[in-house]
Amino acid sequence: MRVDVITIFPALFAPFLATSLVGRAIERGLLAVGLHDLRDHTEDRHRSVDDEPYGGGGGMVMAAPAWIKAVRAVEQAAGERRPWRVLLSPQGRRLDEAGVRELAARGGEDGLVLLCGRYEGIDERVLETVVDEEISIGDYVVSGGELPAMVLIEALSRQIPGVVGFAGSVEQDSFRRGLLDHPHYTRPPVVEGLAVPDVLLSGDHAAIERWREEQALAATRTKRPDLLAGEAERGAGRGPDADRDTDRDTEF
Ligand code: SAM
Repeated sequence: MRVDVITIFPALFAPFLATSLVGRAIERGLLAVGLHDLRDHTEDRHRSVDDEPYGGGGGMVMAAPAWIKAVRAVEQAAGERRPWRVLLSPQGRRLDEAGVRELAARGGEDGLVLLCGRYEGIDERVLETVVDEEISIGDYVVSGGELPAMVLIEALSRQIPGVVGFAGSVEQDSFRRGLLDHPHYTRPPVVEGLAVPDVLLSGDHAAIERWREEQALAATRTKRPDLLAGEAERGAGRGPDADRDTDRDTEF
C-alpha cells in the first residue's frame, strides 16, 4: 500500500512511522509512506503557506497555490497510478470500519494522498481542484490534519495482510463483524479479587469460542446497541460482511 502525506509538519510523522506495527510494515515493504513538506512548494522567500481570509475575520487560511502544486507533484511522481486524494477535515465523511476498508482498497491499488490542513483550514479552491474526498476522524476539531492522518494510516495498516501478526485478531476486532470485541484476560489469574472466567481455563476450545461470541454480543448490546440496530436494518439472514465482497520529501 502506498500513502503520500502533504503537511507543514513532516517531522511529526517520523517517530510514528518508525514504531510498532506501522514501522514493521514499512520495514517489510508492505506499506510505503512518502512525506512531502508543503513549504517546498511555496515561491516566496519566507515559504509562507497561509494568508488572511477574504472577507475579514480572525485566523489564517492556507493558500491554494502551494497545495495544488504539491498534490500535482505527488501525482506526477505516481506515474500511471491515479492516487485517491483525501483532505483530512472535520467536515468530511466520518471514518468507520467500512470507510477504512474502502480506503485500504484504494490505497492498495492506486495509493492515497493525504492532505493535512492547519489554521482555519484550506482555501476552498483546493477542494475543487485536487481533492477527491474529505475524511473526518470524528465530530470534534483538532488543530491539524497530522494526527487524523496518523489515525487513518494506522487503521489502514491493520487491513494489509501480514501486518498484524495473528490475522485472527483483526477478524475479532470491534466493528469488523458489526460487533464489539469480546473481553480479554491474561496472567495473573486473580487481580484485586477478580478471577479469570473459568471457561477460559477449561481448555475446551468450542466452549471458549461460544463464550467469546456471547460476550461480544453482550458487550455490543450494552455499549453500542446502535450497531445491532444497524444490523437489524440491513436485514435478517444477511451477515455484516454481506456488502463487502520532491527534493526534501521523505520515504518511509
Ligand atoms: N475551521 C475548520 C472547521 O471548523 O471546519 C477547522 C480547522 S482545524 C483547526 C485545522 C485542520 O485540522 C483542518 O483543516 C483539518 O485538516 C484538521 N482537522 C481538524 N479536525 C479534524 C477532524 N475531526 N478530522 C480530520 N481532520 C481534522
